[in-house]
Amino acid sequence: TNEEAAAKAAAATADIGGPTIFDKIIAKEIPSNVVYEDEKVLAFRDINPQAPVHVLVIPKVRDGLTGLDKAEPRHVEILGYLLYAAKIVAEKEGIAEGYRVVINNGPKGCQSVYHLHLHVLGGRQMTWPAG
Ligand code: 5GP
Repeated sequence: TNEEAAAKAAAATADIGGPTIFDKIIAKEIPSNVVYEDEKVLAFRDINPQAPVHVLVIPKVRDGLTGLDKAEPRHVEILGYLLYAAKIVAEKEGIAEGYRVVINNGPKGCQSVYHLHLHVLGGRQMTWPAG
C-alpha cells in the first residue's frame, strides 16, 4: 500500500545517528564542489540542484546535530554561524538580492541526510509556499 511504502521510505531515512555521506565530503574522501569553507563550516553545491544556485552549508563537526530537532544549548553558536555562512555564500554566489534558506527536518520534513544542513537556493524567482 501507499502507507507501507511511505513508512518504508521514512525508515530508510530515519535518524539513527550513524555516519552520513557528508562525513566523506568533509574528509574530502568523495569530491564536492566547494563554494566556501572555514574552520567551522563547509559549503558545497547540491548534487541534485533545485535552483540555479543550490548550496548546502554544514557544520564540519556534527556534535549530535543530526537534525535541527536535536539542537541543545551548546549548539546555539554553530547554529547562528551556519546562518551567517549562508549569507556569505549568497553574496559569493551573486544572489544577495533574493534567496531562500531551508532546513528540512525529519521524515515529514523530507530530510534525507542526518547531518544538519542549510539549503541556500536562488538564481531564480522563488515561489511560496514551498512544497
Ligand atoms: P535533505 O533532503 O536531507 O534536506 O538534503 C540532503 C541534500 O543532500 C539533498 O538535496 C541531496 O541532493 C544532497 N546530497 C545527497 N548526497 C550528496 C552528495 O553525495 N553530494 C552532494 N553534493 N550532495 C548530496
